[in-house]
Amino acid sequence: MPPTHEVFNQPPALTGYDVSDDPAMLSALRREGAAWAQEAVRVLGRLAGSAQAQAQGHQANENPPVLRTHDRFGHRIDEVEFHPAWHELMTVAMRHGLHAAPWTDDRPGAHVARAAGFYVWGAVDAGHCCPVSMTYAIVPALRHAPDLARRFEPLLAAREYDAGLRPPDTKRGLLAGMSMTEKQGGSDVRANTTRAVPVPGDGEAGGASYLLTGHKWFTSAPMGDLFMVLAQAPAGLSCFLLPRVRPDGSRNGMHLQRLKDKLGNRSNASAEVEYDQALAWLVGEEGRGVRTIIEMVNMTRLDCVLGTATGMRTAVTLATHHAAHRTAFGRKLADQPLMAAVLADLAIESEATTMAAFRLAGATDRAAGGDEGEAAFRRLALAATKYWACKRAPGHAAEALECLGGNGYVEESGMPRLYREAPLASIWEGSGNVAALDALRALTRQPESAEAFFAELELAAGADSRLDQAVARLRKELSDPSEGRARYLAEGMALALQGALLVRHGAPVVADAFVASRLADGSGEFRGWGHAYGTLPSGTDTAAIIRRATPAI
Ligand SMILES: Cc1cc2nc3c(=O)[nH]c(=O)nc-3n(C[C@H](O)[C@H](O)[C@H](O)COP(=O)(O)OP(=O)(O)OC[C@H]3O[C@@H](n4cnc5c(N)ncnc54)[C@H](O)[C@@H]3O)c2cc1C
Repeated sequence: MPPTHEVFNQPPALTGYDVSDDPAMLSALRREGAAWAQEAVRVLGRLAGSAQAQAQGHQANENPPVLRTHDRFGHRIDEVEFHPAWHELMTVAMRHGLHAAPWTDDRPGAHVARAAGFYVWGAVDAGHCCPVSMTYAIVPALRHAPDLARRFEPLLAAREYDAGLRPPDTKRGLLAGMSMTEKQGGSDVRANTTRAVPVPGDGEAGGASYLLTGHKWFTSAPMGDLFMVLAQAPAGLSCFLLPRVRPDGSRNGMHLQRLKDKLGNRSNASAEVEYDQALAWLVGEEGRGVRTIIEMVNMTRLDCVLGTATGMRTAVTLATHHAAHRTAFGRKLADQPLMAAVLADLAIESEATTMAAFRLAGATDRAAGGDEGEAAFRRLALAATKYWACKRAPGHAAEALECLGGNGYVEESGMPRLYREAPLASIWEGSGNVAALDALRALTRQPESAEAFFAELELAAGADSRLDQAVARLRKELSDPSEGRARYLAEGMALALQGALLVRHGAPVVADAFVASRLADGSGEFRGWGHAYGTLPSGTDTAAIIRRATPAI
């Protein structure tokens, strides 16, 4: 049949490119102490940009997990079936140590190297990053039960994806999850009603044994091997390690009632769970459950910021790529001044988020090495950045999507997937308000955190008077740290940190545009910055900013 028309003015597929070709990320990787990991990150970046990995990410999302509560004979099995592509993605992530490498590597920068791997590989699919993140995060909490840590940490850190439900000691590699949220309380975990009853005289596995009974409303990655669970013990809310399969090979009393039909994150399973006399081992002291599990939450919060940075970078890459090839009204979209303003604004947001994420990964690394100042800095900076970066994500995804016009609204473009994923990190591990209130708590109750945070801002003093003035205004604002203003203050702190990092280490053109738009006091002008993306001050070198974000294929 003769063709009816010629297809033209469409961009080439963005495939076969290097996801790690990301100047803000690469310089942060080196600056935060992991230059030694650069080659490995580049390898993973090329893999992430390959047609095969992209197809696997797509397939894992198109074929979401399926719950099988019973086998064909009626036995309860509570298993979740995944598409083979999911297993492939997990295999790569674990082979590259994204779930645990820093726990077996004493080199300075190990957490930063892992952060970079997580950041580039996450571009393939966000869903499978959930169990990867929780496995990484469980270790500091687990160490509150040294015998359990000795027993399971080597298996959690093993670089093997060993799928299937078997006793944890018999597997080549383990995955972890967390089970806190209940129907009546997620943020307010003290409202948990799951009960933990001690098993008299049982010290098996090095931790006192308990039987847990109750329900959990949101437990992701339920095909994991070990779960950190909060439950009410005789002395109060406590933290437990719960094996999916008991050491004797029998299935533990962990029944999956149903899987959530989620907005996004569709490759990943999130279950409603009933615990029925499920065996679990105490981690930390009875009654100190929140204090123990917060060590896990603190690690996953870093991944919320990293994952958000990945989503933004991916969206910007897709948008700049499209605009570099698509012509409208006689010019490439990227050369239309208003589209250039939009793309540059999106790119600035993405670079600022990446820089903050890597600064926090560096702080994680140094804090793990015993640096108390960095731990104090991280405490406040992570809460504020978690709040602000995640809060920016949905609007960023929507705007990037629009750069592709109608194509951006179509699944094949990849944009709808990014858009649906975008609100997640803001809800998980401390929803917006909770994260902002946490930043406020650190500010007001942990003076060493506030001190470390402002010392970090101080390092940029004198480099840009607009930033200096913004920091001075921020200090003044902080004199009224009332709860109702927590969002405003967390936003201010996060913006000041991003500005300070950009001014010290960023590309000057990006730093200048960021400070001019996000931090400069607009007095004297009509307004410094509009409320939508694409409202940068005139004179911004948008072309130079866009160049940094346009992928080479
Ligand atoms: C995709 C996904 C995966 C998840 N995976 C897991 C998992 O693996 N394990 C797990 O335990 N949980 C998981 N969760 C649950 C998640 O952590 C909770 O939904 C979250 O902590 C909020 O709890 P909630 O849903 O009970 O909402 P609520 O606690 O009822 O909060 C509702 C709203 O009120 C706000 N709020 C709460 N307290 C205050 C306050 N004091 N002041 C002002 N505002 C307040 C919150 O910010 C939120 O906006 C997951 C959630 C999602 C979306």
